[in-house]
Parts: sequence; structure tokens; C-alpha cells
Amino acid sequence: MAENLYIHFPFCRRKCTYCALPSKAMRPTPGYVENIVRQLPPGPFKTIYFGGGTPALCDLSPLLDRLEAPEWTVELHPLDVRRELLETLKAGGVNRISMGVQSFSDATLKDMGRGYTAAQAHRAFDLIREYFDNAGIDLIVGYPGDKWELEDWGFKHVSVYSLILEPESILGRQSRAIPGDDETLDRIREIAEALDRMGLRRYEISSYAKEGFECRHNLAVWRGEDYLGLGDGAESGLDRDPREKMLSLRTRYGLDTSAFPQWRETLDFHVREGLLTKTGLVYRLTSRGTEVCDSILAELV
Ligand code: SF4
Repeated sequence: MAENLYIHFPFCRRKCTYCALPSKAMRPTPGYVENIVRQLPPGPFKTIYFGGGTPALCDLSPLLDRLEAPEWTVELHPLDVRRELLETLKAGGVNRISMGVQSFSDATLKDMGRGYTAAQAHRAFDLIREYFDNAGIDLIVGYPGDKWELEDWGFKHVSVYSLILEPESILGRQSRAIPGDDETLDRIREIAEALDRMGLRRYEISSYAKEGFECRHNLAVWRGEDYLGLGDGAESGLDRDPREKMLSLRTRYGLDTSAFPQWRETLDFHVREGLLTKTGLVYRLTSRGTEVCDSILAELV
């Protein structure tokens, strides 16, 4: 039985311009949470992750009453953040918050349709930190015209995603130019350096954390562990093919090839190219390698 549980809440206040996730601008469907409660396996769970969409648009109490896990994350939108909700989540056993901030530029936030300013997001984050030590944010790089300096709000975790222009997103239907790969990679390097100065180390291609605050749920997924997904639009990863263990190359723990000798020739080639290092049978990305990880993985499939 999967020890990692993901629950998806596909409801949003409005659709953000860049978003192609399975979520809709709509009120929660009546009975959505109760339906998930009926599908819950008995547990125990090592990690739980409530993502979306916007989980806090639902009344989460029936799930808070039923679940527990050593790491339990809830994604919040800055407009969700209020004391009462944070108290309820904390009392229910949630111990990790990930807030989608996306940009520190008010003009970009407006363009994205996020509905708050950077200062409002900062205040929301400060309030979260009154209740949760383990709190972080998500950012997007490569949004057209976006420009900001990274501010240190006391994050324990930051995820930095490159914008992918999905044809079905609002942005994808407009003919807006987005920055090229080189510009985006330069920007990611700048942000990674700024995060490093704040004490957050890169532990996965898109993820940075202070010591002891890596997201165990995401690490479990990248290490090829099983996870159960519940809710509309959620995917499960059950009985995962050993090949999915290759995703651990994304992490700083690297890919252990003890059980996969067939991959070593390709990986050794990339060691010679300076994209990987090798310790025993474990291969790890160099900083240059992080920029081409997907193509290395594609060669192993
Ligand atoms: S980015 Fe998040 S809040 Fe915005 S539409 Fe997508 S799922 Fe909803």
C-alpha cells in the first residue's frame, strides 16, 4: 500500500494566465471532500500533500479529522491566508505550508491574474510563519516582462519553476513572446545563487531548502516510491516500474545504479562530458548537468 498520499483540489478563484494544470475557476463541487474521505485507505502515511487548484477553497475538516502523517503539506494561495484557517490546519496535524507566490513584481502578478501584490503575499507569508516553521513558496521564471529581485522572507523551502508555454493556457493562446532558454537559465542561476546566500541549497532541479527542510513527499516521488493520488485530476504512481527510480537523478542524492548496470555506459559518457559525477555506483548531476537532466534521462529510457 502506498505510504504517500496526494489529494488534488481542482478549484480556483480564477484561472491564472500561465496555468495548464487540471483546475477550473469554480466553486468546490458539493460533496467533493466527503467523496475523497470515502476513498481513503486506512494508512498509515509517511507523507500527505494537498495540492491544486486551491485546497483551502474546500472545507478540509473531514480530512483533517481522519488523516495524520509525519509530513503533511497544504498548498495555499496568498488570498487564502487568515488566522482561522492556519489554526484549523495546525490543529488538524498539517505541519508544512507551500504558498504559491510566483513573482515579486506587482505588474507581473497583475498580468498573471493572481489577485494580490507582492506586499500582500509577504504579509501572508509572515502570518504563516507565526504558525508553521516549515513554510516555503513557489516562484515562476520566464514570464514575459517579469523582473524582480529575490527577497528573503525567511523561507525554509523554495521551488523555482521555468514557465512552460502550454497551448491550452491563456498565455499560450495569446501571441506573447516568452524569454528564450538561455535567458531563463541565466535567471535560474541568479536565483540559485541568491538562495544559496540565504542558506537554501538546491536538492532537486527545481527545489531549494534549508538543512532539514527538504520536501519528503516530493523526494519520495522522485525516488520512485509509490504514491496514491485522490481527487479529480490526481494521478497515482502505484507498482512503479524500477525505471522510474531513474528520476532520483534529479535530486542531490543521485541515481544509484547497483540494480541498473545497463545505464552505466551512458552515464559514464556524461561523467566524461562534465555533466555528472560518480561516487561508487551513484551518479549525481553537476551544476551544468542540472540544465540538461531531462535529455540525460531520455537517453536512459
Ligand atoms: S496556478 Fe494555481 S491558482 Fe492559478 S489557476 Fe493554476 S492551479 Fe489555480
